[in-house]
Amino acid sequence: MADNENGLEPIVDGRGASILGPRNAALESQNPDGMIAPETDAGTVPNLKFSYAAAHNRVLSGGWAREITTRELPVATELAGVNMRLTPGGIRELHWHKEAEWSYVIAGSCRVSLLDELGRLFIDDVGPGDLWYFPAGLPHSIQALDEGVEFLLVFDDGAFSENETFLITDWFAHTPREVLALNFGAAGSAFDALPTDIDHTRYMFAGNVPPALADDAPPYPVGEPPQSYTWHMHAQEPTKAPGGQVRITDSRNFTVSERIAAALVEIEPGGMREMHWHPNADEWQYYLSGEGRMTVFASGGKARTFDYRAGDVGYVPFAMGHYIQNTGTETLTFLEMFRSDRFADVSLSQWMAALPPELVKEHLNLDDALIAGLPRTKSIVVGGS
Ligand code: MN
Ligand code: MN
Repeated sequence: MADNENGLEPIVDGRGASILGPRNAALESQNPDGMIAPETDAGTVPNLKFSYAAAHNRVLSGGWAREITTRELPVATELAGVNMRLTPGGIRELHWHKEAEWSYVIAGSCRVSLLDELGRLFIDDVGPGDLWYFPAGLPHSIQALDEGVEFLLVFDDGAFSENETFLITDWFAHTPREVLALNFGAAGSAFDALPTDIDHTRYMFAGNVPPALADDAPPYPVGEPPQSYTWHMHAQEPTKAPGGQVRITDSRNFTVSERIAAALVEIEPGGMREMHWHPNADEWQYYLSGEGRMTVFASGGKARTFDYRAGDVGYVPFAMGHYIQNTGTETLTFLEMFRSDRFADVSLSQWMAALPPELVKEHLNLDDALIAGLPRTKSIVVGGS
């Protein structure tokens, strides 16, 4: 690909021509495999990329939130994601919703709580690399601690919207004063100071940093739930691979996470997440660091390549083959998310290694040594420096 003072030009191997018309060179430079696709790409494959940099951001006194849903990335019907930041003490308003919520803490720390249907309150502090999981319908809270916090939220419905949750102030605002008085056994005047924001909701707002958890914990009416709704993903021992490593978290270790499974993948420069697919669900990706590209094999002679970097979201529809190359100079780190109780993938190499060698040879005309050398275990991440 040619590269001149105007930016990348779609010229390669004697084909193509320079761009004469208007252009967004900065965006083009981030999508070189869209400008000139590998020659093995073919056919029409839906868009499988959207960046938080291009998402609408809702900016409020307590921080900000930007979401990628089917409205931004129409193919992503199984999962939606929200990137949220809270200032020190900042509060995501008390709320609940119809979708299960999974979260990965990117930076800083926060206190989360959840009430289960038996009236038991779970409350815990989480930091970088920690997860939480809130089952659909159960009410919860999020408040940043003294350094503030930023996290990724993932919901088990691509059409979810962070702007359509059940908010406590919203319900108060839409309930007659006499009903509130009866429900809470108080005089109507007790509700004179309810928020009167223009839309009667707080959603996200500045707050005071809470004291240490031991001093902040309320008296439990029934006790704590027997299971934990938080998990230290970074404390898991990673599975080492030739070109990187992976941590897998699903309901087999983080038992409450019955609707969301995740893998945290790290690929060293020159390495590649091996050719594979998932037999149980679509894959929703969030890129945490580095630069890479993914080619998706969509059957019927179709394949398309996309470039990703930190802050981008990728998607792979159910069963489509794919691989992800680290194209940068630092570690490529990303989350693979699935709407499932378990992580599952099929390795192309492992399948070929398990079959009778003659059967593989008759398809691909590969030599005996290559077939005999195929790994019997999943490589997960191959290559590397
Ligand atoms: Mn929520
Ligand atoms: Mn995958």
